Amino acid sequence: MKKIKFNQFKGGPGNFFLVALFVGLALMAVLKLADFSHKIESISYSMFLKRLESNQVKAVIVTGNDVKGIYRDGKTRFEVTVPQIPKIWDLLKEHNVETNVVSSGSGDFGIWQFIYLIPFFMLLGAAWYFFRQSRSNGGNSGNIFTMSKSKAKMFMPSQIKVNFNSVAGATEAKEELADIVDFLKNPEKYKRLGARLPRGVLLVGEPGNGKTLLAKAVAGEANCPFFSVSGSDFIEVFVGVGAARVRDLFVQARRHSPSIVFIDEIDAVGKQRGNGLGGGNDEREQTLNQLLTEMDGFETADASVIVIGATNRPDVLDKALLRPGRFDRRVDVPYPDVTSREEILKVHAQGVKIDTAVDLKRVARGTPGFTGADLANLINEAAIIASKTNEAHVSVHDFEEARDKVLIGKELKTIILTEREKRITAFHEAGHALVTLLLPGVTDPLHKVTIVPRGRALGITFSLPEREKHSVSRDEMIAKIMICLGGRAAEELVFNELATGAYSDFSTATDIVRRMVCKYGMSKKLGPLVYNEQGENTFSEETARMIDDEMRAIMDECNEQVIGLLSLHRDKLDTLANALFEKETLHAGEIYTLLDIQSREEHLFK
Ligand code: ADP
Ligand code: ZN
Repeated sequence: MKKIKFNQFKGGPGNFFLVALFVGLALMAVLKLADFSHKIESISYSMFLKRLESNQVKAVIVTGNDVKGIYRDGKTRFEVTVPQIPKIWDLLKEHNVETNVVSSGSGDFGIWQFIYLIPFFMLLGAAWYFFRQSRSNGGNSGNIFTMSKSKAKMFMPSQIKVNFNSVAGATEAKEELADIVDFLKNPEKYKRLGARLPRGVLLVGEPGNGKTLLAKAVAGEANCPFFSVSGSDFIEVFVGVGAARVRDLFVQARRHSPSIVFIDEIDAVGKQRGNGLGGGNDEREQTLNQLLTEMDGFETADASVIVIGATNRPDVLDKALLRPGRFDRRVDVPYPDVTSREEILKVHAQGVKIDTAVDLKRVARGTPGFTGADLANLINEAAIIASKTNEAHVSVHDFEEARDKVLIGKELKTIILTEREKRITAFHEAGHALVTLLLPGVTDPLHKVTIVPRGRALGITFSLPEREKHSVSRDEMIAKIMICLGGRAAEELVFNELATGAYSDFSTATDIVRRMVCKYGMSKKLGPLVYNEQGENTFSEETARMIDDEMRAIMDECNEQVIGLLSLHRDKLDTLANALFEKETLHAGEIYTLLDIQSREEHLFK
């Protein structure tokens, strides 16, 4: 696909002079700006204290009794004479003001003059950089003229060759994005009824699972232009450039609306504001503010622009980004399960000559933890290996070799389970799930169980609370402990050996037991006394031993019950674990059918 850059500057042999000329002009402009923005305001001591108290001061330089500083807006500087410097030390610290002390002997000439010179050095560096770059690229690269232009790649509908059919698996994500497609196709339909229009969608998932592909497929389905940019493209050394690029991007997007703006790695701009000192964040904060402004502006502007952001770190994003009217929809793009992996392999096997002996279902089974990108890579590697040896078709053996090759690259980052580990994990998760099912009434209903590894977790059993709970009964707490213990108990029952994978289960269980005994008065021996661990009512050694004994007693009792329960229903455990091993992810409905249990949700609605 062709990359279109806005406002391209084509340079010829006379390039150097042009660059030099513009650098000169820019230099003068910057000097003027510097003069303007570095205006120093003289303020009184009481004014200074007030501003300090109200958190407006960002950094100061102290020389003798003179204090010079800059406000948090990053623009205005001030100077003030402070009668007794030691008196303000604590205040500076308390309000997180970056403080530098310069000995009065050296005067303030050095520091300030140096600060004034920084733009010069930067411009010189930039000029040198652009000159070199424009020479090495024949003058076609980004340069000083396109600095504030967005670096986004723009794809017109005719250039977009993907749609939802190109994205294998990812059923839930596609379903959730179907709304957006419909909106982009008929914005009028929604506007007419006064519906609040979707604006931002956050795709969350590890790299390679198809976030970019999905976003582009939305554009393909809706037949609208697609602007693609990475969050890191906005971050530059020059303050204000990122914000200008965001503005430019949205001007373009509105001009072509309805359209989609895709921002990959949105965490690069969208990290929480206001953490960390120093000027390093000014650029990013300005860029983020501009993005927020643009998104808020859609309401008034009549344009239909959908912003799709992608990240694998939703936790670090600034809360302002997630507010209604911004990225208020979140779509998870998880690792593919075995069925999805097979489908992804099929998509990428199109056009590749593959031996009939190769069973893609088997390949899918042998690649847990692979992302969509890994699978595409796998097919490609296999084809390359086959080509090298002049084979007519890509063989089973080529696939095995390719798999090892891709695995070596992956092993550093994610867990790859061996066949045996996968089987153990299947029993572990089946244990959690089955205990949940066997204790109806005191547990939250099962939602789904998966053994597709995610990051460092081998598998997860999800439950969905039926209602908001304000108090928890003793039985419910016991049930929670039993669910935690169910994983290891199943492993023990079947494999008769102990692994380390249950650590976090145990620490959760221990936590609950401790709360029962020390906080909620749920033990007979100790009664309704609250024992704080570091609290006021420090307790005797004897009490400590009693707490220990009580906790152990509850835990042992739970463990015995769980083992009994699972042994009694060993057939169900086997059925569930084997199905999990085969399919990797099971939804509650499938489990009910499999184990022939009546669904609790059905009960609820009867
Ligand atoms: P992300 O943006 O999440 O890092 P990408 O969309 O860039 O992932 O995926 C990289 C490549 O992996 C895609 O171009 C595609 O070839 C392949 N891929 C990933 N997921 C899928 C999928 N669900 N179906 C088909 N191909 C996929
Ligand atoms: Zn577990």
